[in-house]
Amino acid sequence: MLFNIADLAPSVLPIIDNKTQGGGGASSRGSHRLADVTNCPRKWYMRYVKHCTRKGEPEFRLMGTLIHSALANYYAAMLPEEQQPDWFKEMPLYHRLTQEAGGKIALADRAFETGEQYIEWTKKKKCDWIPYSVENEYQATLGELDPDGEDAPGFELEFRTPSGEPSRMIFPTLNEEVVTCRTDLIVTKKTNNTMWVVDHKSKNPEYHEEKFGKWNDNGEFALDWQVLVNLMVIRARGIPVRGFIVQRVKRDGEFDADRHPVPVPVKAYEGAPGLARHQIKVERQHYRNLAQGISPVANYFNCYGRWGECDYRPICRADNAEDQARIINTLYNRP
Ligand code: SF4
Repeated sequence: MLFNIADLAPSVLPIIDNKTQGGGGASSRGSHRLADVTNCPRKWYMRYVKHCTRKGEPEFRLMGTLIHSALANYYAAMLPEEQQPDWFKEMPLYHRLTQEAGGKIALADRAFETGEQYIEWTKKKKCDWIPYSVENEYQATLGELDPDGEDAPGFELEFRTPSGEPSRMIFPTLNEEVVTCRTDLIVTKKTNNTMWVVDHKSKNPEYHEEKFGKWNDNGEFALDWQVLVNLMVIRARGIPVRGFIVQRVKRDGEFDADRHPVPVPVKAYEGAPGLARHQIKVERQHYRNLAQGISPVANYFNCYGRWGECDYRPICRADNAEDQARIINTLYNRP
């Protein structure tokens, strides 16, 4: 056993306000953003400062989003009625899937069917999961996560908006900065009364054929930043999660799914709050640079990763600023 659950367990679990939480979407300062700060400052800037996103999600990613929605709907339906989220009550699942699919009805149909097959699969497995929260964001301050870390004072920065208007950003002390995580699901396993964070991973059976159907503890989740951030933030909220389960669901072909608690190396877990502090310090420096007109550096080591190309690769492949501006206007949504 990696963690002593008795040290973490409060006598009363916090009441989750599912109603105020959104369905789907990325965490506001979660593992991806913290990683992008150093993986590629330009990517961090485009995504989290400019809020510039690719138009037309690739089909495989959209299918993953739709399957997430179908699974979220199933678990939201199992919550006590007074805790069911507003997004769940707003419309029936199929209606939501067709909206999210943006007219790609075949994808909505496939996701709906996958959701139905998943429900059958959990029944056959006599699944003992009782949902505690569905699609919630959790937050913790650096002071809570890393109480012995070195603090730094808050500050203000003056910016000019693109139209030339002056604008101000106020930063709190470093210890008051917030780390977030958005969890697909937190459950209690009825048979042994342990709580777990569950993350749904939709998988393509052709591309991942060699991975699906077998599980290797030394694989991609054996040391995973998302896992570390989720566990430390949720535990800081007094929710005694025992660990992190990856649940894989095939998004194409014959239905299949499996579940695996992932190993969490103790040293890495203990080092995660310090790494979060470091990343936020770097992020604050990026903002200081921006206020002085210094552009975030592009890191060409990370343009193509395990999920395919970086969303901003078409911009970075352009030969000049005019082409970049044209590509941004054509291929991207901006607020
Ligand atoms: S394409 Fe490469 S350099 Fe450009 S934002 Fe993405 S990771 Fe950074």
